[in-house]
Amino acid sequence: MNWLKKFMAGRYGTDQLSLTLLIVAIFISILSRLLNSQILNILYLVTIVIVIYRIFSKNVSKRYQENMKFLNIWHSIKGKINGKVKQIKGLKDYKYFKCVNCKQKLRVPRKKGKISITCPKCGTVMIKKS
Ligand SMILES: [Zn+2]
Repeated sequence: MNWLKKFMAGRYGTDQLSLTLLIVAIFISILSRLLNSQILNILYLVTIVIVIYRIFSKNVSKRYQENMKFLNIWHSIKGKINGKVKQIKGLKDYKYFKCVNCKQKLRVPRKKGKISITCPKCGTVMIKKS
């Protein structure tokens, strides 16, 4: 295993972006076989080449920055999905409104009749039926 250590010295190695691309490549590969698609097969090969290039790249700072960008996007998407899941789970207990002034999302308890909602962000007061 010493040769591998020597070979990988100064090289970037794996990260979350490479692993995600690898999973995507496997998915594309399965899809290309199922659909017998030449375009998907080429896309699969391109993805694999990108993964290999990233793992063996010696430009560590550039690869690190790419991974950071990917993780930012990933966490933003994950946050939005978690927010939607939380909203769907809370639909029977809460009602959601958007502030008419600043579009801030507001959550109020259901079945309280007509209520006055004050936006915590801009202070706009709305009368809504919950
Ligand atoms: Zn507001």
